[in-house]
Amino acid sequence: MTAVIPIHAEASACDAPYTVRPEKGQREVFCGLTGIIWLHRKIQDAFFLVVGSRTCAHLIQSAAGVMIFAEPRFGTAIIDERDLAGLADCNDELDKVVDKLLRRRPDIRTLFLVGSCPSEVIKLDLSRAAQRLSRQHNPGVRVLNYSGSGIETTFTQGEDACLNAMVPVLPAAPVTGAPRLLIVGTLADVVEDQMRRLLTDMGITEVDFFPPRNSTMLPSVGPDTRYLLAQPFLADTAQSLDARGAQRLASSFPLGAEGTTLWLKAAAKAFGVAGDVFDAVTRAPRERAEAALLRQKVHLEGKKIFFFPDSQLEIPLARFLSRELGMVLSEIGTPYLHRKLMAEELALLPANTQITEGQHVENQLDRCHAAAPDIVVCGLGLANPLEAQGLTTKWAIELVFTPIQGYEQAADLAELFSRPLRRRMKLAA
Ligand code: SF4
Repeated sequence: MTAVIPIHAEASACDAPYTVRPEKGQREVFCGLTGIIWLHRKIQDAFFLVVGSRTCAHLIQSAAGVMIFAEPRFGTAIIDERDLAGLADCNDELDKVVDKLLRRRPDIRTLFLVGSCPSEVIKLDLSRAAQRLSRQHNPGVRVLNYSGSGIETTFTQGEDACLNAMVPVLPAAPVTGAPRLLIVGTLADVVEDQMRRLLTDMGITEVDFFPPRNSTMLPSVGPDTRYLLAQPFLADTAQSLDARGAQRLASSFPLGAEGTTLWLKAAAKAFGVAGDVFDAVTRAPRERAEAALLRQKVHLEGKKIFFFPDSQLEIPLARFLSRELGMVLSEIGTPYLHRKLMAEELALLPANTQITEGQHVENQLDRCHAAAPDIVVCGLGLANPLEAQGLTTKWAIELVFTPIQGYEQAADLAELFSRPLRRRMKLAA
């Protein structure tokens, strides 16, 4: 049974209520191992060793295998069925696999042991294994661990767990009273370069990105750190950064022209950038993005969209699609609703938006069919059946693999939604 709780948005930009329907039941999501696909491309001297079953190996190979063109920087140490008495052997085997891997790949500087959900893996203490292996392979290689398990997670939590595992090893920044900006969350290199250029042009030159492209260049963190989340699914990482004394700059996320402007503005405000400087730096790319979005709006305005909970990007995406492209929000499903991290986004949603937190997939499918949306954002497991039933879908995971943040990518992001709609219209014609 589900309850509907009306909540008034906390921020002042919107005094219209949105409703949150907490829902529990069967879920249709990928596990956190999926994060390895974009993390291994970002941190170029890291290796992700999944400690898991053959199922984990298949998932990672089929999801990421097609995308690699050099030697892969991920693999699976397969742990077969064994009882607790066999765990000593298991640790020995893991040590052997790691030794062999590091001998063969001297370019690896950080090795992540990624836990999974099979029961025989859960019995293994990967954090102790990581400490042991770190001591053995010090100083050349650092070994860290995190869980990518599919139990009670959604796939983007893999990145949160990975970054959270790195926070304790970030060097302590000396306290000087001069703030330094930290952008937190994996961004495609091209997006990172654009953001750095814009920030530099407005005079914010002390900027680090986390995760870094090179794991030996970890940003330092401390009370002078002001951080901006580039991704909305990093609640645990944010909490750990807070515990290190860093201060989060509250903001919307950099999706669309408006979202990017608000995100940059949060940094500009914290670093004392004058309004005219901010406008001068952002005007041209913002106007370019707005013009490109107008061309996409023709295809999207008035179209109804329904989100199944999957990537945790749903609320910022819904805000972007409704405010900048005129789409109608039927229901926004989100696996978790972090009200604090989402406050600025929630405040910008249109009146009477229906949010569902969690999932009862059968109930949600019923509501989706009843709503008859023009397009549905969902996981891969639901997309094919829904397409077969005549609905147009967009894979949520594609939104994490594709560079979508920032001004230059705003129209590309809109096109990810307009393309399937146009294809469906052509097929129907
Ligand atoms: S971690 Fe769990 S859910 Fe993910 S592939 Fe392995 S067995 Fe499947």
